[in-house]
Amino acid sequence: MVIGAGLGGLSAAIHLAAGGRDVVVVEARDVPGGCCGTARTGRPGRPGEYRFDTGPSVLTMPEVLAETFGAAGADLDSVLPLRRLDPFYRLAFHDGTRLDVVGGAERMAGNVRELCGPAEAARYLRFRHRLGEMFEAEWSSFIDADMTRLRGMARPYALLRLAAAGGFRRLDRFVAAHLTDERLVRAHTFQSLYVGLPPHKALAIYAVVAHMDTVGGVYFPERGGMHAVPHALATVAEKAGASIHYGVRADRVETGADGVAAVRLDTGERIRASSVVVACDLPRAHAGLLPEAARDWRLRRPRYSPSCLVMHFGLDRRLPGRAHHTLHFGREWGGVFSALSAGRPQPDPSLLVTYPESDETAAPSGHSTLSVLEPAPNLAGGADWDRLAPQLEDRLLGRLADLGYGDLSGAPGATFDPPAWARLGHSAGTPFALDHRFRQTAWFRPSGRSRRVPGLHFAGMYTAPGVGVPPALISGRLAAARILEGAR
Ligand SMILES: Cc1cc2nc3c(=O)[nH]c(=O)nc-3n(C[C@H](O)[C@H](O)[C@H](O)COP(=O)(O)OP(=O)(O)OC[C@H]3O[C@@H](n4cnc5c(N)ncnc54)[C@H](O)[C@@H]3O)c2cc1C
Repeated sequence: MVIGAGLGGLSAAIHLAAGGRDVVVVEARDVPGGCCGTARTGRPGRPGEYRFDTGPSVLTMPEVLAETFGAAGADLDSVLPLRRLDPFYRLAFHDGTRLDVVGGAERMAGNVRELCGPAEAARYLRFRHRLGEMFEAEWSSFIDADMTRLRGMARPYALLRLAAAGGFRRLDRFVAAHLTDERLVRAHTFQSLYVGLPPHKALAIYAVVAHMDTVGGVYFPERGGMHAVPHALATVAEKAGASIHYGVRADRVETGADGVAAVRLDTGERIRASSVVVACDLPRAHAGLLPEAARDWRLRRPRYSPSCLVMHFGLDRRLPGRAHHTLHFGREWGGVFSALSAGRPQPDPSLLVTYPESDETAAPSGHSTLSVLEPAPNLAGGADWDRLAPQLEDRLLGRLADLGYGDLSGAPGATFDPPAWARLGHSAGTPFALDHRFRQTAWFRPSGRSRRVPGLHFAGMYTAPGVGVPPALISGRLAAARILEGAR
């Protein structure tokens, strides 16, 4: 049984069903995807209707998706054809300059040369090589490894390789040791926000995120936008034999003498199960869904990632020449992160603007949609969001107007702020779970398996490898592999 049809739960369901297990998935919402959700304005099929992807927009490492579908004999190119974006990102700096992050070492070095000169371009190529080495050293030993098993820990050679590649330094120092132009440094450190930490606190092992997006590339479904990802996963899971029940909440995991016995649903139904994969918000799950014996010491003092304010707009026009992803850097850099850590909004935040022009399901012909994400403090800092939300929304509208997107104040849309994320079931009002500080990384992230409740497994972003589309998919596979190998 799998609780939660987010990306972690769906991945577990595919692998378990493909492995011959009877799989039942229960999902509290009416659609699959969890964070990878969708929202609409207007009435379906009527003019003025817009559809927004409310979660991830930067899709990296399609090979992880391909491997997930492949486990059930499905082919990524058939079930979810993807397009590689060009550019992957447009980086717009506060001084008016910009850098398109594009595929191919020489092409990208050419853009760097134009912006920062030939010496920095040569440094960039060396740095890019180092990123590749780091990724190689890390992938199988750290990211794609089952941290719940002892043998996952006992890999001194892998750790030495990572240390030699500089993985245990701080990210900002690692990047600054190779690159000198401040803009290029930002281009390779902003990704630390994806793991919930400022660049001076994140370990350099998280430079692999910059490898995944700036080197590996950023992709987008040919049809259906990002929400097509969980739909395709759910379809493949069902074809492999899993049965998915939407609008049903798991209320209680029941145990017997030898571990997991059943799951009690909010419909009153009791489903017998010898193994359960819990793939939802873990602090909430420990507040009633899970037995007391399943407590994990790693969740005793959770340190949550910052949250975000996301505004989606339906536009009655197209925006020719805009990239799919534009990152508008604020003037400030180092200091902006301390505000978030202190539970305050950033004074001059960097903004990720997503303009999915190619998504025909997003807007009527000639129209388009635009989404903007601003990092924001989570609810653990105690900010007064009734007061803060309208202020931040006004400021964001003003910034967008200044950046040339026009007056969006009257545009139809949807807004998600930390209280909204909390209402959707995310602890501390952040959809990014625990941050990835050292003591919440790898072996120190909540375990993928309960030691004291046989049959109880965990997947999703609260477990290793962590937050993001590829990690959530990997966590589901790791949970399924343990069950298929007979671990209880
Ligand atoms: C705004 C935003 C932007 C993001 N941007 C990116 C990005 O660009 N790139 C990237 O890689 N990642 C991004 N992410 C992160 C990524 O989307 C998540 O890390 C990943 O989708 C988490 O998946 P999950 O399965 O762990 O959890 P979730 O998506 O939270 O899924 C958990 C599911 O469990 C269900 N559930 C909870 N409790 C119960 C219960 N008791 N019974 C039944 N069902 C239950 C929930 O309804 C939910 O569907 C973003 C996320 C957000 C929100």
